[in-house]
Amino acid sequence: MPLHGRARSEAHVREFSYVSRDSRCIASPASAEIACPIAAGQRQVAVLLLSTSLLISAQGGDAVQLRVQGIPTEEFDRLRTGGADAHGQPALIRTAEGVANPCRHCLQHIKEGDDKLVLAYQPFAVRQPYAETGPIFLHREACARYDASTLPEWFTMLDPAAIRGYGADNWIRYETGQVVRGNELASACESILSDDDIAYVHIRSKYGCFQCRVDRD
Ligand SMILES: [Zn+2]
Repeated sequence: MPLHGRARSEAHVREFSYVSRDSRCIASPASAEIACPIAAGQRQVAVLLLSTSLLISAQGGDAVQLRVQGIPTEEFDRLRTGGADAHGQPALIRTAEGVANPCRHCLQHIKEGDDKLVLAYQPFAVRQPYAETGPIFLHREACARYDASTLPEWFTMLDPAAIRGYGADNWIRYETGQVVRGNELASACESILSDDDIAYVHIRSKYGCFQCRVDRD
C-alpha cells in the first residue's frame, strides 16, 4: 500500500531522507513529496517513523508559540442563556457524572454533581462543507475562558487524541491528520503549525468530540 506525505521544510526533507533509507521510501527534496511503496503490514511502522520525523523537524526549526483558547465567551454566554445550538435547539441541562465532563469554554472539567449543558456545536465561523458539528459540554454557570500558551494539563489524559490542521479556507489539510498520545499533543500541534499553510489546529477526543482550537501565537 503506497504511503504518501509532504515535507514542510528543508529540515523535514532531510528527515524524510532518513526515513527513506530505512523504509525504502522515495524522497524528492525538489518537490518535497515522498512516496513509500510499502506493504500494508509495514505501514504502521512507516507512519510512526514519519510522525517521529515531524517532531524532530519541529524541534530543530524555529519554535512555534501556541495559543490555546476555549470557545468565544460571547458564544458561551449565548448558549448558556437559552440560545440555539448548531441544530437550532436550546442546550439540554444534565448533571455531571464521573470525572470526564470538559467545559469547552474554560477547558476544565465540570465538577461531578454540578449542572452541565449538552449541545451540538460547530467550531467554525462559516458554514461550509468541512464545518463538522458534534456534541460538547459547557458549564451552566459563568466561567473564565481558557487562553494560554500551553494546553490544559489534563489533556495528557486524552489517550489517544485526534488532531488535524485546517487551511485559511477552513478545509481540512489531510496530510496533517494524526492520532497521538495526550503527552505528545503539544509537540504535534507545534509541528503542524510550523507550516504557514496551516491556519489552525483542532484537537478532538478519541470519540471525535471537539476539545479546542490551537492557533499560532
Ligand atoms: Zn467552564
